[in-house]
Amino acid sequence: MPDLLALEPTRRLMQPAPIAPAHLSTVALEKFYRKGDHKIPVLRGVEISIRRGEFLSIVGQSGSGKSTLLHVMGLLDSPSVGEVLLDGDRIDDLPQTTRDELRNRVFGFVFQFYHLLPELSVLENVLTPLMIRHSMLGYWKRRREFKAQAEEILEKVGLTHRLKHKPNELSGGEMQRAAIARSLVAKPEILLADEPTGNLDAGTGQEILGLLRNLNEQEGLTIVMVTHDENLARSAHRLVRLTEGRLEVLSDAA
Ligand code: ADP
Ligand code: MG
Repeated sequence: MPDLLALEPTRRLMQPAPIAPAHLSTVALEKFYRKGDHKIPVLRGVEISIRRGEFLSIVGQSGSGKSTLLHVMGLLDSPSVGEVLLDGDRIDDLPQTTRDELRNRVFGFVFQFYHLLPELSVLENVLTPLMIRHSMLGYWKRRREFKAQAEEILEKVGLTHRLKHKPNELSGGEMQRAAIARSLVAKPEILLADEPTGNLDAGTGQEILGLLRNLNEQEGLTIVMVTHDENLARSAHRLVRLTEGRLEVLSDAA
């Protein structure tokens, strides 16, 4: 049986990358904070278009506005000027309740310091987004289904043996895996990760990056990861740097 793929390696390499439409984009995004009479600019015209299924890394010095950009893109904060678009539709100017609903449905967030609730077990932490989304009664009626959903995701991130542990009984890498499971349990389309490896040693950081890459490749999850580690950042499809309030492209494998 001939290996068909091996017969035409050149042609295979020449296949253009699929051009996916913009999933999440920003137009002329500006953000400034006010201090007394002063306006302190942080974002000064950020233009980015993230394709569906893309893994984008953002690097930049501390204080360059990376977290601010992630928060504005994920509807945790509003831009001062400019627009945020989801699948081509503007979302930053929607009424607050619509924004909240959209944020909970579309985005998953992962942070440097995990933000797990200390008094809850790993499984309970992962279930919290579903408790918040559904009314108490709605949650109670479907609790078995939700528990199975949470356990499936915890298996995916390799935490099946830690379901009943409290966060303070976990390693840093395990806490971040739990936080990633929590960010995914409500099946978001876009994962926004702010320095997800910033509190971990290099080896554990690589493991977490590997997990994010698998989620991107196998589940088609769109990922935007902020990091100060250019080594980790380089394994994304595209690497951009936030500097002076604007983005510059450092590498683009697409
Ligand atoms: P990074 O994540 O790249 O370290 P941030 O987005 O956290 O940067 O912050 C960018 C700049 O905006 C910093 O100078 C910071 O002090 C300022 N900043 C962030 N949040 C606020 C806020 N709520 N009020 C005033 N200034 C802020
Ligand atoms: Mg930050």
